[in-house]
Amino acid sequence: MTQSPVWHPYAHLLTQQAAPKVVGGEGARFRLENGETLLDATCSWWCMIHGYSHPRLVAAIKAQADTLCHVMLGGLTHEPADRLARELVRITPTGLNHVFFSDSGSVGMEVAMKMAVQYYHLRGKPEKHRMLSLMKAYHGDTSGCMAVCDPEEGMHSLFAGYLPRHHFAPAPTAPYDADPETVAQDLAALRAALERHHHEIAALLMEPLLQAAGGLNMTSPEYLKGARELCDEFDVLLVFDEVATGFGRTGKLFAADHAAITPDIMVLSKGLTGGYLGHAATLATDRVHDAFIGDSPLHAFMHGPTFMGNPLACRVALESLAVFEEENYLDKIARLNRILRTELLEESALHRHPRVRDVRVLGATAVIEVQDATALQGVAAFARTRGVWLRPFGRWLYTMPAYITPEADMRHIAQVMKDWFR
Ligand SMILES: *Cc1c(COP(=O)(O)O)cnc(C)c1O
Repeated sequence: MTQSPVWHPYAHLLTQQAAPKVVGGEGARFRLENGETLLDATCSWWCMIHGYSHPRLVAAIKAQADTLCHVMLGGLTHEPADRLARELVRITPTGLNHVFFSDSGSVGMEVAMKMAVQYYHLRGKPEKHRMLSLMKAYHGDTSGCMAVCDPEEGMHSLFAGYLPRHHFAPAPTAPYDADPETVAQDLAALRAALERHHHEIAALLMEPLLQAAGGLNMTSPEYLKGARELCDEFDVLLVFDEVATGFGRTGKLFAADHAAITPDIMVLSKGLTGGYLGHAATLATDRVHDAFIGDSPLHAFMHGPTFMGNPLACRVALESLAVFEEENYLDKIARLNRILRTELLEESALHRHPRVRDVRVLGATAVIEVQDATALQGVAAFARTRGVWLRPFGRWLYTMPAYITPEADMRHIAQVMKDWFR
């Protein structure tokens, strides 16, 4: 058989194995060409929150396809985009009243950063054109996003010479339920970075509560509240990248909800369409939006992805949200959380295993962090023989299951993760 011309992401071309061919899927499982089914512990990079072949999502796409597959959003609008924007304003923290659509999480973050820079330009502070990001951050793979990923461990270090330079504060270290003193240390580090550089910083970017692809680092809602106060004090916009945390992953609809705060800009993608089509939304408050109202050519926001507001994507996003609310997904997430806590934290000796550094659970997310990456060599193949699709990266063996994962299947995923350390 000749080799496929498909170039796989993050793959080492010399050592990669032939990729199994997926031919379909139902619920939490996808099915391979050879008849094997695998329980997806990652819900396909955290986006397939309803699992595969959800009848309502599939029907929504088909119905929209019969009406209107695509039309430009430049100077035109349509019902799915308009309705989705209204719904996103309704469900996100109070004050995020404006929605800019794009086609992926990375582009949604590029839009957020451009908005922040232009905001200060329009306010007469063009020198505020850099970002403050956090170590362990991951905000996407495009150039603008690579420049605000962790510069050392963030998998893009080879591009350092090519990327613009921004500022970085230490990653938060206080866990979700940390006492105030521990959080205060993290906030002191953030304050120090702002004191030094605020005159040139447009926005503080963070993945609130859960730094995902940079190592599943979890922190306290108090850190978000403190960051909100610091941004106000130093006249810096607060940007929440909720591409991974949005739509229930941390146990509330949005991570910002744990702290009851409103960021100035918030980015959504992954779970937005239930994973069924690529799309993203960058939301902004009146304060940000209204700065763009003016009569100079510099007031227009010069961004416009071809597929922004795609009707198929907007329609399936509306259906995804309807299912999420009607079927009480937050309760399903709470049930998955209880299983993960019981299996991996409470009734397990995992944290005492010599190769394990830490075990963390938040919402429908659990991670076993090991001392060094070699401890995870072979775990994907091991899981596959037990019917589970796990895809660890670096030192992190994690699950972010679809929210419809049955409880017995959730227990099985946790069991396979534990058994690897037997
Ligand atoms: C996945 C991810 C992105 C990038 O989204 P893409 O759709 O892959 O471009 C950005 N930020 C966070 C937090 C992510 O998890």
